[in-house]
Amino acid sequence: MALRQILQYPNPLLKQRAQPVANIGGDVARLVEDMAETMYAAPGVGLAAPQVGVGHRVIVLDVRADDEEPGKRLMKLINPEIAEREGEIVWEEGCLSVPDLTAPVKRARRILVRAWTPEEKEVEVEAEELLAVALQHEIDHLDGRLFLDRLSRLKRDLYRARQRKLERQGRPSGPSRRPLLI
Ligand SMILES: [Zn+2]
Repeated sequence: MALRQILQYPNPLLKQRAQPVANIGGDVARLVEDMAETMYAAPGVGLAAPQVGVGHRVIVLDVRADDEEPGKRLMKLINPEIAEREGEIVWEEGCLSVPDLTAPVKRARRILVRAWTPEEKEVEVEAEELLAVALQHEIDHLDGRLFLDRLSRLKRDLYRARQRKLERQGRPSGPSRRPLLI
């Protein structure tokens, strides 16, 4: 396993639509392991392949509670598709690829996702609340969409202006506190 570099906004690879995985086999298994390791190290609760520069429809997620061990709820999904959506929920989201920003985003409260596992099994995932939010956020990544794109134009422009200013001034060094990142 190996850590991969997480691309950050405005890297153009984050805007590209990822392609379905045609053959679920060797290479994908390694990609999925690397992505899980990278997600835990970040730390984040989800990661999509385009975030590590790979244009395939692969995501990993682990939305465990604080007192649970990492790994037990790890989901590795290939070619995930949202088959049903229901209700509405607003959650404060952040993203490993969009530094220094969290914002409330409106999404479906409950979804049904169909996908494949690295073991080539077809699975259905019924998700609510945080898991539903995280899945929708990751599947957005596969479609080349960031949560930034779901904010109002005003918020987006403010964020871009602030990032440009930070680029000019140079980023402050040292670890920053990270909220929920997916
Ligand atoms: Zn994200």
